[in-house]
Amino acid sequence: MATTREIHLKSRPVGVPDAAHFELATVDLPAPGPGEVQVKNLFMSVDPYMRGRMYDRPSYVPPFQVGKVLEGGAVGEVVASNDSGFKPGDIVSSMLGWREGFNAPASALTKLPAIEGVSPSAYLGILGMPGLTAWSGLTQIGEPREGETVFVSGGAGAVGSAVAQIAKLKGCKVIATAGTDAKCAWLRSVGVDHAINYKTCGSLLAAVRDAAPKGIDVYFDNVGGEHLEVAIELARPFARLVECGMIANYNATEPTPGPSNIIMIVGKSIKMQGFIVTQFASLQPQFLAEMSGWIQQGRIRWEETVFDGIGKAPDAFVGLFSGSNTGKMLVKLA
Ligand code: NDP
Repeated sequence: MATTREIHLKSRPVGVPDAAHFELATVDLPAPGPGEVQVKNLFMSVDPYMRGRMYDRPSYVPPFQVGKVLEGGAVGEVVASNDSGFKPGDIVSSMLGWREGFNAPASALTKLPAIEGVSPSAYLGILGMPGLTAWSGLTQIGEPREGETVFVSGGAGAVGSAVAQIAKLKGCKVIATAGTDAKCAWLRSVGVDHAINYKTCGSLLAAVRDAAPKGIDVYFDNVGGEHLEVAIELARPFARLVECGMIANYNATEPTPGPSNIIMIVGKSIKMQGFIVTQFASLQPQFLAEMSGWIQQGRIRWEETVFDGIGKAPDAFVGLFSGSNTGKMLVKLA
């Protein structure tokens, strides 16, 4: 590879991003230097959190820079190596997505174990950051107990679909929301007890109440907004609200109102806790062991929505905000 293509941030979006905020650039890719490894990316991830990095403001990760290449999770194949720990053909993960190829020191790469019948792309989804997010947020904060009722929003997405299935494996009744009937049908096919199309159900409160007449014990929040208000309304005493994400607010141009019923968290003794997945990094080996086991036993299923080619990466990213993905949104690069 003498050159490679990558996506730059052209301008900071205000409101909903579109493809015009991104630019495809061709840059030189020389042979790897001493201690460096050259990687050809196979798949890259687009994730909702990247929207936050497009604002110029302090956060738990630094903002993306206008005119510079974006970054994010990727899996790729080593094509040349000047480090004894890596050889051509090794499959690796990195945070050097949004580009077809790159040179990096070995410390920027993690060698991935092969699991029979599982594509390396799974390490960007069910076996990767979204899977760890679902597993750690649900088990460490939600603490679901057998027989309890778990409500998850964004249920057909990468995180939500894993949460829903893990909750079923823990013996819970599961209610999930998603934005199309096809997504809801898929959720039912993987064992979700009540899948609700939040766009067509009319009153979301009434729909979730019908599904959970005795209330909910755990709410795994991927969406915020009305979903969170409904969860607070229907929460049982000592319910746990796992605040994973609030995608309904990510493109807001004005401050968004809080749930009007927030006072209920006092009287119902609700625990409401946010988290960032990196705080559970030390649980990664435990997560991988448990999740790989479920996968090998056929107890967890997952979907991928795959856009083809680096030029389609902006469309894939923008599609997260209109729900064009079922399961993990990915871009195939090679
Ligand atoms: P998803 O695969 O769930 O993709 C996003 C989905 O969100 C879309 O497919 C769409 O599905 C839904 N959506 C988009 N806009 C809205 C809206 N306004 N209201 C309701 N639903 C909407 O993404 P991920 O699984 O990667 O992420 C899910 C959530 O988890 C996000 O909030 C993300 O920021 C968060 N997250 C948090 C982490 C942490 O460390 N705390 C780590 C990883 C993710 P639909 O058709 O149903 O509308």
